Amino acid sequence: MTTSLIDDYKRHNVDSLKSVRGMTRTQLWDAGINDIDASLFLRLAKVYWESGHARIDEARAAARARNHGLRVLEKIENLAQKSDRPNDLRVILCGTFEGELEKVAAKHITKPKPVNEASVAFGKDGRNRLIVRSDEGWLMDFINSLPGVDDGGLEAVYEGLKQHARGKMGLAAPRKMLHIIVPLPVMAQLIQGNTEDIKVRALDGTWRTGEEIMAELLEGIGLATFVNARNKPVKQYRLQRYFSAAQKELAAAVQHVCQDPECHRPFNLLQADHLVAWSKGGETNIDNILMLCEYHNMKKRDGDVYYKDAEGRFWKRRKFGPDLPCTNN
Ligand SMILES: [Zn+2]
Repeated sequence: MTTSLIDDYKRHNVDSLKSVRGMTRTQLWDAGINDIDASLFLRLAKVYWESGHARIDEARAAARARNHGLRVLEKIENLAQKSDRPNDLRVILCGTFEGELEKVAAKHITKPKPVNEASVAFGKDGRNRLIVRSDEGWLMDFINSLPGVDDGGLEAVYEGLKQHARGKMGLAAPRKMLHIIVPLPVMAQLIQGNTEDIKVRALDGTWRTGEEIMAELLEGIGLATFVNARNKPVKQYRLQRYFSAAQKELAAAVQHVCQDPECHRPFNLLQADHLVAWSKGGETNIDNILMLCEYHNMKKRDGDVYYKDAEGRFWKRRKFGPDLPCTNN
């Protein structure tokens, strides 16, 4: 005689657990139950028939009505335990269709507020761990000023921390980023090479002549954002000859993180890329710059497609499902 796996499986619900109530793991093993199933039975029998949780009668009735199987009850328990009030959430979830469990649970589970913190953990193998989580600017300033990191990349963080901690190397002075906002009429003069008569005030309150601005930009000291009368950043393609190195910084005015919809890598890890290739007539201006991290830039070369719609918003094309808006939209 063949027994149907499906029928057999469906037969087991919250009431089946009653038959293992009070059993120990060893007893279950002796009865020929494998350890994975034994863990499941023990856990659920305890919840539904042994512990006498508040509202467990209601949970059982609801689970019975939905005829939830044991694996679904396990999922419900996992979700319920994430709540401050697992007994209440259990009742709700037992009365919920399996496919809706996560969605319903999410409404009742309050995520802890993110806190800035540092924690230290000690590894058994002697490898200890320091984890710092912070949304405050000092952390990236500190990391970026570590020896080796200031002019290299984040791979140098470990060695940089070590050298700094041993007192062999001080921190580099925080990079001072001169930021100049250049209005359009001034830009027109700069383009014409008329740099002597121009004076522009930088964000640190100091004044610069057009000549000084150009010199600093060429040395990569600062960045300039060209704005129209409404303070909106505008094109700079005719300044390409001055700004090839500053092109990326110019884009910082509008694209601070990797523009891939699912990426959050910060600006200093990004590469400027032409949305429409330079060779295909794409101009070097803000409208045509897409800031991507190295990974997403590579994926773009491998065939990922980003495009701009008629309203100027960037999108990422997807093979399946609707296209996703890029981060900065
Ligand atoms: Zn990215």
